[in-house]
Amino acid sequence: MVALRGEGPLKLGGTLRVSVAGAESNVAIGLARLGHRVHWTGAVGADEAGELVLRTLRAEGVEVSGATRDATAPTGLLLFEPRLPEVTRVHYYRTGSAGSRPAPAAVERVFATAPPRVLHLTGITPALGPAARATAGHALRLARRYSTLVCLDVNFRARLWTADEAAEVLRGWLPSVDVLIASGDELPLCLPGPAGDPAEDAARLLALGVREVVLTHGADGATAFTGAGGPHHQPAVPVRAVDPVGAGDAFVAGYLSALLDGADLAGRLARAATTGAFAAASRGDWEGAPTRAELSLLGAPPGTVVR
Ligand code: ATP
Repeated sequence: MVALRGEGPLKLGGTLRVSVAGAESNVAIGLARLGHRVHWTGAVGADEAGELVLRTLRAEGVEVSGATRDATAPTGLLLFEPRLPEVTRVHYYRTGSAGSRPAPAAVERVFATAPPRVLHLTGITPALGPAARATAGHALRLARRYSTLVCLDVNFRARLWTADEAAEVLRGWLPSVDVLIASGDELPLCLPGPAGDPAEDAARLLALGVREVVLTHGADGATAFTGAGGPHHQPAVPVRAVDPVGAGDAFVAGYLSALLDGADLAGRLARAATTGAFAAASRGDWEGAPTRAELSLLGAPPGTVVR
C-alpha cells in the first residue's frame, strides 16, 4: 500500500508525507537490509501509487519481478494519523484494491524461479478477501511441496474480519506452519479450543506440528516455545521509543534473518529484539530497519557520535 503520514488530527488537513507500508513489505525490506535475498509477491494497481510501491521495494533490494500490475483495481492506501503522542490512528482504503486480489500465478512464478528457503505470510492477507485467501493458501501448498519453511505472523486486524472468521482460516493453516509469531491476545485465534496458560497453549500448537511458537509482548520482549526445554524469554532492548508501528514486522525480519544464518533460538530472539527495537526507536514502518553493520549501534551510550 501507499502510506500517507500526517502530523496531527487528519480533519485539520495539512501536510502528508508519502511512503509505502504493509506488514509483508516491511518484513521483506528488513530482511533485504540484513543482506538476504528476498522475493516479494503480490499485486499493485497499474497506477503511479503502484509504481511507488514497486520502486521502493526495488530500491531496497527486494526482488519484485513476480508482482502483478492489475489494470482493473487501484493500489491500496492507508493514512496514519498521529492523534496523541502515544496514539496513532490508521485509516485504510484498500477494499477492492489490487492487493486484495493477488493471483495464484504470481506465487507460482516465484516458486518456479527458485523455491525459497522461507515463505513468510501474515494473517492480514487472508482477511483481504477470497482471492487473497486462495492465493495465500496456494502459497502454503507450494511451500509444502518444495519443503520451504513457513513462517506465519498472525497480525489479527479486527477491522478486516471477525475473530471467528480468522480462527477458522488460521487453524486450517496451522498444520502447514513451522514458525508461528503472535501477540498474547492473538494466540487464542490459533487454538483448537479455549485458551489457558500460554505455555500450555503453546504446547498444544507444538503438538499440531508447529515447530516454534513466538509470543511478542511489545516493550516487555518476547517468549519462544519450541518443545525442547522450557520457554525462552527474550527481554526487549531498551530504547527511546518514538513509533511502535512496525516493531512486530521488524522483529520477524530479525528472527528470520538469524534463522537463515543458522543461529540457535537464543541468537534468533536476540536479533529479533534488536531489529524490533530499531523499529520502535525510528519513525516509519521500515525506514529505520538496520543493515547488518548497523546492528551493533543499539548498545551505544546516549550522545554517541559515530565519525
Ligand atoms: P505491530 O504489529 O504493531 O508491529 P506487534 O504487536 O506485532 O507489533 P510487538 O509485541 O509490539 O509486536 O513488538 C515486537 C517486538 O519488538 C517486541 O517483542 C520487542 O522485542 C520489540 N519492541 C516493541 N516495542 C518496543 C519498545 N518500546 N522498546 C524496545 N523494543 C520494542
